[in-house]
Amino acid sequence: MNNPHKNSIKQLEKVAEILREQYDDKQLFDKAVEKLKSPDRIIEGTIRVKMDSGKTVAFKAFRSQHNNAAGPYKGGIRFHQDVTKEEVMALSTWMTWKCSVTGIPYGGAKGGVIVDPKKLSMSELEKLSRAYAKMIAPYIGPWMDVPAPDVNTTGQIMAWMVDEYEKTALKRYKTYIENPIATFTGKPLLLGGSKGRMEATGLGGFHILEQLAKKLKMTPKNTTVAIQGFGNVGYWFAYYVYKAGYKIVGLSDSKGAIYNLKGLDPQKVLACKQAGSTIGNCSCGVKGCSNKGTKITNSQLLELKVDILAPAALENVINAQNAKSIKAKVVLELANGPTTPEADEILFKNKVIVIPDILANSGGVTVSYFEWAQNLQGYYWEKDLVLSRLKGLMDDAFFRMWQLKTQHKVSARIATYMSAVKKVVDIMILRGSI
Ligand code: GLU
Repeated sequence: MNNPHKNSIKQLEKVAEILREQYDDKQLFDKAVEKLKSPDRIIEGTIRVKMDSGKTVAFKAFRSQHNNAAGPYKGGIRFHQDVTKEEVMALSTWMTWKCSVTGIPYGGAKGGVIVDPKKLSMSELEKLSRAYAKMIAPYIGPWMDVPAPDVNTTGQIMAWMVDEYEKTALKRYKTYIENPIATFTGKPLLLGGSKGRMEATGLGGFHILEQLAKKLKMTPKNTTVAIQGFGNVGYWFAYYVYKAGYKIVGLSDSKGAIYNLKGLDPQKVLACKQAGSTIGNCSCGVKGCSNKGTKITNSQLLELKVDILAPAALENVINAQNAKSIKAKVVLELANGPTTPEADEILFKNKVIVIPDILANSGGVTVSYFEWAQNLQGYYWEKDLVLSRLKGLMDDAFFRMWQLKTQHKVSARIATYMSAVKKVVDIMILRGSI
């Protein structure tokens, strides 16, 4: 079994070996790296929800706060049946690096509840969200820890959490707390959300792809793309890639995958899904439906001979078992932790360029930062401004990575980690906190 937290430690150790020589005080550097191997704090509890049946069910819940040297802890909350404490710890570590990569003033955190939200009614989901917000209320705040959506959590869930957080704090402190809406990001627009947050992760990944394509001299119309996962991130990435003229030949969701060399239009596939079909199983009757082609399995999709493979679902899908069969030229990690360290080595040997998650999917948290900044200012930005600032930060992060990759002749992952980890270690040293 792949343990994502162990994987995150392996990644840190690998880059620390390279960075170590840049530090005069090696002992201090080693101490910082040791500290970064585990989260600062893990909040762990059981939340109870009275179900529609009248029965009370208990769910295990976590919030891992990894590091706050650069600013408040930041990261999403995941509702999924496969959540584990180790997974949440790893995801919080990756958030620290992700925020460092784009240079936004946050540390890293992540939350999770072991639950299959698809089995809950709307009112059960609301109760679960409120119970979780209540559990973490003492440990969050605009300058302490700022949660956001992640897998299976939405703007509506953030809205319930803001409300519950405000009520809980009011009860506890007998007075209104300052700026509760700046405590969560990824909120609906009506409740202080930011324009552009919805599409931010997919769009950020698209900006990275565009810069990479220039370096590799790939032109959209001659570049084939396969995307694993059709949630918010996968859909928006597909939307921009399609609009720019790339050829999407493979798409999948958790229930199946489809392959079509003529190209798939994500908007039409979405319309088909919204009409009740799944990917590869079209019965929608939507005019010009694009959800047609050869039905393949999720694992076949990963092994397609394409230029760009974008895993946009969960961890460990590219692992020691299938890495040798990956035929894509580029793996663009839109999910968090889709490639295990063993698979990473194999891909590197096979000259597959892997653009790591902490860079490729950092667009989401970047616009979360803009949302938080707008909430603190009480002044809201036009969409153009949000999107142009997103592009600016994504492009800069890409160029920093590319320069280090070329200079040190390392993989894109190592180059990205070099700048991310170094920045965090340097801040810890500056603070004298180690
Ligand atoms: N859950 C997203 C991620 O993994 C967004 C986090 C955020 O906006 O804080 O990057």
